[in-house]
Amino acid sequence: MKCTKCGGVAVMNMPQHRLKLCADHYPEWVISMVQRTIDKYAMFDRDARILVAVSGGKDSLALWDILIRLGYETAGLYINLGIRHESYSDVSESLVEQFAAAHDGAPFEVVNVRETFGADVPELFKDSGRHTCSACGLVKRHIMNRWAHEGGYDAIATGHQVDDEAAVLMQNTLHWHSGYLRRQSPVLPSIHPRLARKVKPLCHLYERESAAYALLLDIPYVEQECPFSERAKTLFYKDILNQVERRSPGAKLQFYLSYLKAKDEGLFTLEALPSEMNTCERCGQPTQAGELCSFCRLWEAHRS
Ligand code: AMP
Ligand code: ZN
Ligand code: ZN
Repeated sequence: MKCTKCGGVAVMNMPQHRLKLCADHYPEWVISMVQRTIDKYAMFDRDARILVAVSGGKDSLALWDILIRLGYETAGLYINLGIRHESYSDVSESLVEQFAAAHDGAPFEVVNVRETFGADVPELFKDSGRHTCSACGLVKRHIMNRWAHEGGYDAIATGHQVDDEAAVLMQNTLHWHSGYLRRQSPVLPSIHPRLARKVKPLCHLYERESAAYALLLDIPYVEQECPFSERAKTLFYKDILNQVERRSPGAKLQFYLSYLKAKDEGLFTLEALPSEMNTCERCGQPTQAGELCSFCRLWEAHRS
């Protein structure tokens, strides 16, 4: 397998982009792809201060590394939820520390939920009837918003990639959760001074691509899943999408991008039907096309 750019030995094949890249060109490509994503969705400006939510996993650490390399002013935020199973939270925290040390002491903050608020997340929600995962999400969102506001950051960046976004999209589509479908986006604008702008700069990158990036650049990360994670469900959808992807490379990305495009074009908004309708010169039927309706154009093309 040869690198599309230099003909050297390729280490990554990305059939959805018709690209094979070597160990030098691959990280370069990932970094420029993230910059293009930031620009495409106008996520933030050059001089923005970004709070990177890091879990110790491959995606968020790869993201932090990329933003640092792109020259953005960043700080990491790790939330220690107090998940003790196999020391999950503490192992993750030490990997974040290790990352910062290896990146010239990149600034980061750790919020330990027990020390700051008085109880670990599993404890906090034991009797609440809530699944720990939804509790965990709620606590994380709250802390991210507060810390971003108090630290005066312009946005919070998370490590969500295509596989995450497409799996959630599929789940929401199967249930036609129109509320969620309306909101899912690479950028969530701030709708209140105390609610931070949220951005997902890896949303065009596949999960295997962020993993390969972390491996190639020697970024150690937690491989273990959160023991409470409702991942089983997400993994099920990720697996289905990967089967589709194998048959039709790029399908996963297309599913997500086409959804964003459809949303841009007004799907999921309650917009009235287009008011401007033309009348087809040939058949008199109303049409949004030009002088001829699509039906008449079809016959026209057939005849000529
Ligand atoms: P998850 O919902 O676990 O897939 O995580 C999605 C994103 O949320 C990650 O890529 C991180 O950016 C962020 N995140 C998850 N867990 C934490 C955590 N404990 N502390 C800070 N950020 C987190
Ligand atoms: Zn190359
Ligand atoms: Zn969880």
